[in-house]
Amino acid sequence: MAEKMLRFVTLPQAMPEKRAAGQRRQDFTEIYATYARDKAQEQAARCSQCGVPFCQVHCPLGNNIPDWLRMTAEGRLEEAFELAQATNNMPEICGRICPQDRLCEGHCVIEKDFEAVTIGAVEKFITDHAFEQGWVKPVRPARELPLSAGIIGAGPAGLAAAEELRRRGYQVHVYDRYDRMGGLLVYGIPSFKLDKAVVERRIRLLAAGGVIFHPGFEVGRDASLADLRARHDAILIATGVYRARDIDLPGAGFGGIIAALPYLTAANRIGLGDRVPEHESGLLDARGKRVVVIGGGDTAMDCVRTAVRQGADSVTCLYRRDRANMPGSAREVRHAEEEGVVFTWLTAPQAFLGRGRGRGQKITCVEAVPMRLAAPGPGGRAGVAAIPGASLHIEADLVIKALGFDAEDLPLLFGEPGLTVRADGTISVRPETGATSLEGVFAAGDIRRGASLVVWAIRDGREAAAAMHRYLAARAAAQALPLAAAS
Ligand code: FAD
Ligand code: SF4
Ligand code: SF4
Repeated sequence: MAEKMLRFVTLPQAMPEKRAAGQRRQDFTEIYATYARDKAQEQAARCSQCGVPFCQVHCPLGNNIPDWLRMTAEGRLEEAFELAQATNNMPEICGRICPQDRLCEGHCVIEKDFEAVTIGAVEKFITDHAFEQGWVKPVRPARELPLSAGIIGAGPAGLAAAEELRRRGYQVHVYDRYDRMGGLLVYGIPSFKLDKAVVERRIRLLAAGGVIFHPGFEVGRDASLADLRARHDAILIATGVYRARDIDLPGAGFGGIIAALPYLTAANRIGLGDRVPEHESGLLDARGKRVVVIGGGDTAMDCVRTAVRQGADSVTCLYRRDRANMPGSAREVRHAEEEGVVFTWLTAPQAFLGRGRGRGQKITCVEAVPMRLAAPGPGGRAGVAAIPGASLHIEADLVIKALGFDAEDLPLLFGEPGLTVRADGTISVRPETGATSLEGVFAAGDIRRGASLVVWAIRDGREAAAAMHRYLAARAAAQALPLAAAS
């Protein structure tokens, strides 16, 4: 093993080929290629096989990274794939869109002096290669069980839980209000980060494994939670968080000020070949416009980069903290800068200025105020305070608000006042199981933890599936139904 590994001393870090910024600006194709096999093997061999692998500790799924890196370096790709998928239902998706600089790679021990092992890119390679070789198979339960699980929401949390429950033999039904499955993987995250074909491939695999999808089915409209509880033996709520935070500033009602998610969803739909009237009318299209995006998270980064690709005249990102204190991935900021986005750090909007009268008023300018960092708040993040007296004006035809999301009022929507939620609307659960206040009802993903990451949603989905299995096994035992022992 030793002669294959530990190559970080002589071999520099090399990401897969990244397309030139000028070319990237023209289309919505993923910006990174996948490694060629020899490059993946070489880069995997840079790993120093730490006794205490901090990469693994800081992967929310606890992926066995050092072992699958070693197997890759040794050319044992099928084994590497088996190991990678043992802890992750979508390794090729996490490899593409996890903010590795904050997770596994950010804690790689060689990061400081030699630059991290390119864990995400190798993970993506292993699974893409496995698909090409036909090694990725639908789940085949050892036996069919007479109990069913209903999953509300087909985002990564719901999909991961669906696969884990189906693997154990349950009849799994996934309900989603959208026409396509995948949640934010399809309608939020742009295809230059995650090709939609990659998501569709996973959905097809789940369907081939016997998961039954119900698209266009909205719980709260097409059925109440009580209806679904009567239909299934256990329920998982994995509905994500979709209530956009807003800013109440003078001029906030002007035309041309829009929310991030409808904008990104429209762009994704166009890419998928759908017709979107609001895009055709120009409402959700940045072409030829001076665009200002407000916010500093992943959603804001996706908006600025989408606007560039739509042919905006200029794209400016306003963020009230500085670069070091932004919530978005540093890697994404670098990509945006390469693509021509201007970041105006330590700046917050204080009014929108416009032209026209009555309902026809249109945004023309964002009036903003410079900020300075202040003492951290209760959450530990740097606080901010306005610098009085100064203000600046940024011309704009389109303003996109990307200020984060809160949960919708699910007890009201689902007609279930007994569902206990926290002050921010996320569902209260037992941390070790994801069990809610209602018997047999569990929660996972953003609706459990607040707006977060795909990899955390997958972890929640897996944990909830294990807890649902224990619950169902106990229930089956009470009814003397056949069921494998809970594990
Ligand atoms: P979602 O993916 O939101 O899925 C929930 C599903 O539930 C949706 O399909 C919805 O239609 C459905 N649903 C909701 N209500 C109902 C109902 N009443 N009835 C039926 N169905 C319902 N994370 C990363 O790790 N990397 C990134 O690069 C990244 N980029 C992001 C970019 C954007 C623009 C956004 C908004 C988020 C991004 N995230 C990213 C975060 C990540 O997408 C989420 O944390 C993750 O998708 C949460 O998964 P989930 O399954 O909990 O919910
Ligand atoms: Fe890193 Fe995400 Fe893969 Fe874990 S799942 S190893 S955090 S890229
Ligand atoms: Fe390898 Fe880095 Fe993980 Fe250590 S921390 S095992 S060097 S990937």
